[in-house]
Amino acid sequence: MDQAKAVAQALAGVTTKDIRTESAGGGLGRCLLCPICGDINTHSTGFSDVYELPGNDGYESGREVRGDVIAVPMRCENGHNFEINIGFHKGQTYLSVSIIGNPETSPPASV
Ligand SMILES: [Zn+2]
Repeated sequence: MDQAKAVAQALAGVTTKDIRTESAGGGLGRCLLCPICGDINTHSTGFSDVYELPGNDGYESGREVRGDVIAVPMRCENGHNFEINIGFHKGQTYLSVSIIGNPETSPPASV
């Protein structure tokens, strides 16, 4: 299988966006906003859910970067699931969010 086809298959169903944040004051840094609804109340699903997507310097992670990606599963208080991606690409590290599947049908039954 050629690389372009492999990348296209890996990306199918994944929407990657820039991270959106908002200042909440208090000197704690910036708050991550849900990439689907913009809710400021977002939660990690747990450190045991964090995983690595090997890119093998060939776009094999499925996250639009050439190298490896660390994915942190997240959920907003409206029930949207998404991931924070820390991805390596040509000597630079990119922060992005990925929505797995259709954003319109992302909410699970419970939060
Ligand atoms: Zn949301």
